[in-house]
Amino acid sequence: MSPRRSSPLSRSVEDYLKAVYTLTERGEPASTSALAEALDVQPASVTGMIKRLDESGFLEHVPYRGVRLTKTGAREALRIIRRHRVLETYLADHLGYSWDDVHHEAERLEHAASDELIDRMAAALEDPSHDPHGAPIPTRAGEIAPADFVSLANAPAGVALEIKAVQDEDSDLLRHMESLGLRLGVQLTIEARVPLNEPLSVMVEGAEVTERISPDLAQRIFVGWSA
Ligand SMILES: [Zn+2]
Repeated sequence: MSPRRSSPLSRSVEDYLKAVYTLTERGEPASTSALAEALDVQPASVTGMIKRLDESGFLEHVPYRGVRLTKTGAREALRIIRRHRVLETYLADHLGYSWDDVHHEAERLEHAASDELIDRMAAALEDPSHDPHGAPIPTRAGEIAPADFVSLANAPAGVALEIKAVQDEDSDLLRHMESLGLRLGVQLTIEARVPLNEPLSVMVEGAEVTERISPDLAQRIFVGWSA
């Protein structure tokens, strides 16, 4: 199978490969129930699709624990993720879309855009390394920088943190983050650790007040230690 195959995969195959990639990014296999939840489908239909993807050489089973991508499956998943993230970056940088608007547009376009178009968009952007939400963009050769950040919900209190990435799926939450001054590169400090189901008090760089961040929002913001 050539890495720049001409026969496109179906939209649902592409969505499955992307979901398995995301769920297994930290090394754990993806369970049927986690896939069903991520794709918003019934577990029975996941089982059927897993069988097809296994037969096509995209997935392999990890007994009792779920599935993971084969090399071929990972290569295809990274092509789709590259399309998605280049599209988001192009929409934001060249067409004036805001960061809360690009994801849903890219979800549609990623299945239609050719690799040629994506490569031209990437060249017009001077080969960006990250998308508007801080996620690394796979290269044309299928390499991707690690995204080894921790969520704000799991970060330590009392140290200077920097927002490195945010989850891109929920437009309302992205707008909410922006209204709190929470953008990529912003520095913040958690005032004290609290139980996981309670809001975090966070001092945001440049703001006069302490912001209260809900547990749900804290799960979707990824931080690194600022230098
Ligand atoms: Zn996105």
